[in-house]
Amino acid sequence: MIQLDGSLGEGGGQILRTALALSALTGQAFTLDKIRAGRPKPGLMRQHLACVETAAALCGAKTDGAELRSSRLVFQPGKLVGGTHRCAIGSAGSVTLVAQTILPILSSLPEAADITIEGGTHVPFAPVSHFTDRTLLPLLRQLGVKVEATWPALGFMPAGGGSLRLVSQPSKWRQPRGWERAGTSERLLFVLHQGLEADIVKRSIGALREAFGEDASEVLTIVAPAPSPGLCLMVEERFANHSQLFTALGQKNVPVKDVVDDVVKPWRRWRETQTFACPYLADQLLLPLAIAGGGEFTALGWTPHAQTQADLIPLFLPRRIKADRQADRTWKVVVS
Ligand code: AMP
Repeated sequence: MIQLDGSLGEGGGQILRTALALSALTGQAFTLDKIRAGRPKPGLMRQHLACVETAAALCGAKTDGAELRSSRLVFQPGKLVGGTHRCAIGSAGSVTLVAQTILPILSSLPEAADITIEGGTHVPFAPVSHFTDRTLLPLLRQLGVKVEATWPALGFMPAGGGSLRLVSQPSKWRQPRGWERAGTSERLLFVLHQGLEADIVKRSIGALREAFGEDASEVLTIVAPAPSPGLCLMVEERFANHSQLFTALGQKNVPVKDVVDDVVKPWRRWRETQTFACPYLADQLLLPLAIAGGGEFTALGWTPHAQTQADLIPLFLPRRIKADRQADRTWKVVVS
């Protein structure tokens, strides 16, 4: 039984998500104490419970403490098994964070699986569906992962109402080749919206164009198939081998100009370097690379989410994760 302390490192849900996946894959049981002790509302929230329940279904796990607000979880995995499952988070809890837990499991199952997760697809502090679709999944496919994602509906805060369907086939993991910026990039700008005054959408388009100046390209507007209002601005930089998406969610009483700043500033900082991954992508690549047998890439930043995983993964798998700060303050990440 591996003993984990949820108050260490990032102190939030990351240790839980990564431990669930690693436990299901390796068959090693774990106990996690002080779950999300570093958060204002500690313990298991609906989204975390959905991670536990879906992971448990995919590996016939026995659990203790899998309850709302629980600060302790015991997870004893059994045999990996596919099949069809539906999981309703029951709030605007992030479906992409549940996907973060189960994607590595799905890709290691001996048989096909079909999982539907209902909740939020465009919520703060989590990847939006477009990030998972355009940035993360294509890289996982380069690692051999055979998973198709569809998004029958999108869901903004606070109503949720979105869903993600993941259909997987047995996959064979392989190490990546040349994860670096390749060729010249194409830039796409998006305004994703639902239920907003036309003027807000118009101002978002104008402010995006203005912020990019001569770097601007056409702004594509998409009406989100979502049951409640929302706004998401996106900048995608597409290279020959990968695509990096930056996003910012609109909020009531936050000026459009500030939302534009939230997406343009991180894009600019990343664009000025030659790094492969933004800090969010960096933490999301560590577990897949560890399962695939190793790999390396450069990143703009190294976050507590990333370090928490770098500390956790070697407890389950014979891997070492090293992040070295370079002279230009970017990071070289090696999983070996
Ligand atoms: P937590 O803080 O535990 O809720 O987990 C956050 C996870 O969501 C991490 O894997 C982050 O990399 C990811 N994440 C948060 N914000 C973004 C964003 N704007 N774009 C992509 N991924 C994100």
